[in-house]
Amino acid sequence: MNEKCTKYEGLFIFADEKTFEKHLKECPDCQAEHEKMQNISKLLQEVKPIFVQKRKRVAQLKIACAICAMLLSGTVMGLVNFNTDISDTIRYGTTLSAEDLGLPVDSYGLIMVE
Ligand SMILES: [Zn+2]
Repeated sequence: MNEKCTKYEGLFIFADEKTFEKHLKECPDCQAEHEKMQNISKLLQEVKPIFVQKRKRVAQLKIACAICAMLLSGTVMGLVNFNTDISDTIRYGTTLSAEDLGLPVDSYGLIMVE
């Protein structure tokens, strides 16, 4: 049984360049492996700019999120200040109805208009 050469990784990591290249010339298994590695590193080179862009986009997204959070909290504070239902609920624990405010209401709690 012709076993596949398993020296590639060991030589790639531990051997000096000369030994590595010499073995590559002699061993078709490792040549194939080396070509695969070459293709992968080429692929990585091609893909790299996309990753860099993505990282930039993530940073932009974080900034956008921070701005959104600021705007949102500003809006929420504005809502509490200007929406009486919410500020009533916070102050009195319940929404004040028209009746509570002393306005004439019908049995549905709606303001009566003559
Ligand atoms: Zn080999």
